[in-house]
Amino acid sequence: MKGRKVIIVGAGIGGLAAATALARQGAMVTVLEQAEAITEAGAGIQVSPNGFAVLRALGLAQEACDLSTKASGVCLYDYQRGPVLPLDMAGGQYRLFHRADLIDLLHWAARRAGVRVLLLQKVREVVPGPEPLVRLASGAELCADLVVGADGLHSVLRQALNGEEEPFFTGQVAWRAVIDNPTERRDDVTLHMAPHRHLVTYPLRQGRQLNIVAVQERAAWVGEDWRQQDDPEALRAAFADFAPDVRALLDRIETVHLWGLFRHRIAPVWHREGVALLGDALHPTLPFLAQGANMALEDGWVLAEALGRAEAIEPGLAEYRARREARVARVVRAASGNARKYHLAFPPLRWAARTGLRMAGRVAPGMMLRSFD
Ligand code: FAD
Repeated sequence: MKGRKVIIVGAGIGGLAAATALARQGAMVTVLEQAEAITEAGAGIQVSPNGFAVLRALGLAQEACDLSTKASGVCLYDYQRGPVLPLDMAGGQYRLFHRADLIDLLHWAARRAGVRVLLLQKVREVVPGPEPLVRLASGAELCADLVVGADGLHSVLRQALNGEEEPFFTGQVAWRAVIDNPTERRDDVTLHMAPHRHLVTYPLRQGRQLNIVAVQERAAWVGEDWRQQDDPEALRAAFADFAPDVRALLDRIETVHLWGLFRHRIAPVWHREGVALLGDALHPTLPFLAQGANMALEDGWVLAEALGRAEAIEPGLAEYRARREARVARVVRAASGNARKYHLAFPPLRWAARTGLRMAGRVAPGMMLRSFD
């Protein structure tokens, strides 16, 4: 990739990781970001050992450890009773980040690697070809040897390669909130399984904060934008039959966001004539395995490695797809499957699901996905 011009659209987790990895292969990388600042809404993100392996490969292991909390395990709970099955998180680094801290770290790493990150650059269109072209909303046009679409769920580049596609509502909505941590818990993830609902909590920033995500099955449609606010009372009402310690956490929530969970297909076309996709733009993943960002990190690393080895861009992109396709499909399927297991109504089935999850290590993605580490 030495001396090749690369444009990456989107300065999210996937775009910034890919930018750094490609710059380390000698490419001249520019990232175009529509927002006026590189920032993330306040919420947590779990980086499992496979994602941490990418941070380590990017030379960020120490900084990543300093900024995050090491998870000691995942505890499964029945919604009305106490702890059920603590999962041992043996091996690998399973880290809990505030999203803003992870994005800041990746942004810093990209700049250190010589990447140009340009803000307020909304991409309107991309035209694949021998010299792929990017058109900005401002009317400006840019050319490169390779354009990478890391522009997230509503990707303009995905649409350019694959046409328009309607996602479908899964019948589930999710709330997320961050509170000051009133508990002694400093290093574990909890997952509370209940009929038609589940709730996840984990500590952030050396345990000073607690991240809460709660999911409920619901027929009525809610928008996919996860920046819209909701009334905390709606969340409390939906989880009113949970154990008192969980309700006490919900009582502390002052601001909460609500969004609808939608299924999108993995894009059939991954790349064409110098334009490629990664992360949520390529394979949006339901959050039930905490793997969307981890997959975006892996994509960025594998993309750069495949291009670094290839003689030309197209064979490099073909290798990228060949190395990622089966794994991405497996993770997207496993995430969707967890949604069913977490929400079983019949108590013996819930017990069986918890036991099965523990055996498969499926709520501990580091175990299931260890192959990358
Ligand atoms: P994004 O992070 O969406 O970044 C896309 C970027 O592109 C944005 O900065 C956007 O502004 C920019 N952009 C978009 N369009 C344009 C345009 N036209 N021009 C220029 N710029 C553009 N994953 C995990 O691995 N672990 C977790 O614990 C986890 N928890 C989650 C919790 C919640 C509440 C949610 C919603 C998701 C969670 N995920 C988690 C999933 C994860 O956040 C996403 O999969 C991940 O952020 C995708 O990264 P990305 O870089 O592909 O896209």
